[in-house]
Amino acid sequence: MKKTVLVSGGAGFIGSHVTVELLESGYEVVVADNFSNCDTTCFEGVKKITGRDDLPLVRMDFCDPAAVDRLFGEYDIDAVIHFAAFKAVGESVEKPVMYYKNNLESFLNVLEAAENHGGCNVLFSSSATVYGEPDQVPVTEQSPRKPATSPYGNTKQMCEDILRDAVKASKGLLKGILLRYFNPIGAHPSALIGELPRGVPNNLVPFITQTAIGRRECLSIFGNDYPTPDGTCLRDYIDIVDLAKAHVCAVSRMLDGKMKADCEVFNIGTGRPVSVLELVNAFEKVNKVKLNYRFAPRRAGDVTAIWADPSLANREMGWKAERSVEDTLAAAWAWEKHLAGK
Ligand code: UDP
Repeated sequence: MKKTVLVSGGAGFIGSHVTVELLESGYEVVVADNFSNCDTTCFEGVKKITGRDDLPLVRMDFCDPAAVDRLFGEYDIDAVIHFAAFKAVGESVEKPVMYYKNNLESFLNVLEAAENHGGCNVLFSSSATVYGEPDQVPVTEQSPRKPATSPYGNTKQMCEDILRDAVKASKGLLKGILLRYFNPIGAHPSALIGELPRGVPNNLVPFITQTAIGRRECLSIFGNDYPTPDGTCLRDYIDIVDLAKAHVCAVSRMLDGKMKADCEVFNIGTGRPVSVLELVNAFEKVNKVKLNYRFAPRRAGDVTAIWADPSLANREMGWKAERSVEDTLAAAWAWEKHLAGK
């Protein structure tokens, strides 16, 4: 019997890539999404890539406890991967109540329903943002978490703590894995799914691709006076398909009884620092396009440098980031061109 994985927020950027990898690894997937921050483009893309025209899609809001409970009653769910959350840092500063309400309630509803239906394996999508401005790089899972600088970041820390406590108190009913993502970028090699930001992109790579295609005038590089080799910030850009594969490894670790503790945490990154300027140069070179950019003042809340020590995930989950930055940027560009119908 195939094991079933519920993917909350499964129609979004990360969720759709994870759904593809799960299906291709022999899992059954139930996608659930309220489409508050995406349309059906990626869900349709997933069906095309996998040939699964019958892929179950549940339109629902995870803030509705009765709907979440019904879902767990309707499907025999072996594991849940929880993506359904708001994710714009700046917006979270302006609308903290909305962020706390949505991101906490939806996760609490998942945990409550999981407990009510006999327990579950829960994978929570966390973020390197929990490390704040690190004292030392690369960061390991033991590096201290720093006070969050935005309500968004705080919801990630709070959900991490909630899952840990819930697992501890559940007497074995719940198991948890926290994956801390670094900077997911790129798109599926088919160019049928990718990042689809609404409005002006906050993240670097969508801003780059939209500038290259002519939807944006000019990329602003936020700060070139940081204490780094070229003055721009250093990040760990992780290919979205590599990142998606980490979820398959984590799910099988949970389902195959390979966990060494009831709640585990893994960094999901490459271990390779890349500066904003290096990324821009690599994009121009691999895609043979000229990018209009200028240096602009630093963006509030940005940390100077952060990248992962991914050795725990490499060793324990047998997972490793494989794609080069160049291949990833080529995929991101192919996706932008696909969107533009070129
Ligand atoms: N960045 C930039 N211009 C942009 C968007 C981002 O220079 O239009 C920089 C940002 O200052 C940071 C890096 O790109 O140093 C990655 O930012 P992003 O928002 O993609 O991810 P973050 O690391 O903030 O989660």
